[in-house]
Amino acid sequence: MSIMMLLTMAVEFDPDRIAVTSGDENITYGELLERAEAVGATIRESGVDNMALLDVNTAAFPIALFGAAAANVPLAPLNYRLADDRLSAAVRRLTPVALFQGDGVASSVDLADGARPISTRQLLDARPAADAVPSDLADSESPAILLFTSGTTGTPKIAILRHRHLFSYVTSTVEFASAAPDEAIMVSVPNYHIAGISSVLGSVFSGRRIVQLPSFSPEAWVQTAAREGVTQAMVVPTMLGRILDVLDEKGEDLPNLRHLSYGGGRMPVEIVERAVRRLPHVDFVNAYGLTETSSTVTILGPDDHREALASDDPDVRARLGSVGRAVPSIELEIRGDDGSVLGSDEIGEVYVRGEQVSGEYTTHKVTDDDGWYATRDQGRLDKDGFLFLRGRADDIIVRGGENISPEEVEDVIAAHPAVASAAVVGVPDVEWGERVEAVVVLTEEIADLDGELTSWVRDRLRSTRVPTAFHVRDELPFNETGKLLRRVLRVELAENAKAGAQ
Ligand code: ATP
Repeated sequence: MSIMMLLTMAVEFDPDRIAVTSGDENITYGELLERAEAVGATIRESGVDNMALLDVNTAAFPIALFGAAAANVPLAPLNYRLADDRLSAAVRRLTPVALFQGDGVASSVDLADGARPISTRQLLDARPAADAVPSDLADSESPAILLFTSGTTGTPKIAILRHRHLFSYVTSTVEFASAAPDEAIMVSVPNYHIAGISSVLGSVFSGRRIVQLPSFSPEAWVQTAAREGVTQAMVVPTMLGRILDVLDEKGEDLPNLRHLSYGGGRMPVEIVERAVRRLPHVDFVNAYGLTETSSTVTILGPDDHREALASDDPDVRARLGSVGRAVPSIELEIRGDDGSVLGSDEIGEVYVRGEQVSGEYTTHKVTDDDGWYATRDQGRLDKDGFLFLRGRADDIIVRGGENISPEEVEDVIAAHPAVASAAVVGVPDVEWGERVEAVVVLTEEIADLDGELTSWVRDRLRSTRVPTAFHVRDELPFNETGKLLRRVLRVELAENAKAGAQ
């Protein structure tokens, strides 16, 4: 049950099919296996404990992923957008390590003993020695991937995904060799994110061509999708609206595109509706997942989208704002603060269990004795099993003992015609412990901003939820996988408040 088996099966099915397109470079499945075996042999000889990759999305990623598996060491794909000191700190945690760095990545990482990163050309150009013997397969318990969580809610942790987690995720969600010869998936989510990794693994098992987009811009995404005849893609929420703008500008309809999945963060319903209208030939899927669960645990599928959009029943229509139902291999529960399992429509913490759930970090394991993993996401299940997320437990504002979900307030503010988007956070408060404050991006100026937005929210929500201040910004801080960085705003507004009080 090593992820290497996903590749060897794909090669047996059709070694000549293109596995990866990266710029002008095309690599067949047979070549991918050969290069991975060659890299595996070199890494085994070097005796390192880990392999790390610092690169934009290129053909180097699948070679490194399977190369590490062939050497039976884990691969740590690193975020090249991190500052040098954070990257160096990350790499130190992985030493002894073979760090491969893409030529286009400017980072300067301190390696132990003054060693230098190895160019990814060595991955791309790797060829097996004449006397090479096939590698030993990593066993299912070996770590396959070490993934730094993005640290939205604190210091990054290193999640361990073992071969069996990734193998079972892929084999329970993807059908072997199911891709038609023309199928091509664009991977535009970074390869250091679980969504980018699972897209690559799933595509290999299905025999699909992977089109690596080095770094995202909506123009590059649309151009590459059109040029390569991309049939599927996965995007995070911040990408989709910008992609639709470019499609409108260029009058492009992407006739080859059949399947678009989105996830990684909360997708505004208005953008989904716009996307479905703009691309009626495309099947849409909302996928909810976490690093610690090897990606997707619930799915709102194409039929769910169609049914919700066509329905007059408000409960069915509301499902467009849900993340769908648990995939067959995953069990899902909502639990209250005391750990009891809650009934339908009661809000609590989302727990998941299944073969793909690792819930394990290099420092500790967080699944309970029965294998349940607490996601830190708040949510509720409706009577038909559709999961509605209500934000992360760490973002909940506790005002005078009352729990307030920032999303609930954000949705109301964002519905104001002059507001493009809103973020709501808790700010330390002497009287209430925390008070609610909002940051807004406007589409047009509001004459009496505080007065207007205060009464807008007061008309729609309980008074405890009305923000005590509205701050206007040109944009909200998002990370590159589309997550609103409330943590950044929390720190900023708390400092504002402190400065104001002095
Ligand atoms: P950290 O754990 O360090 O804060 P992170 O949250 O960015 O980092 P990920 O594993 O990348 O780590 O993100 C998982 C989270 O992303 C989920 O817990 C959930 O809050 C959010 N998420 C993922 N998919 C969706 C989706 N389809 N809709 C809404 N939110 C989603």
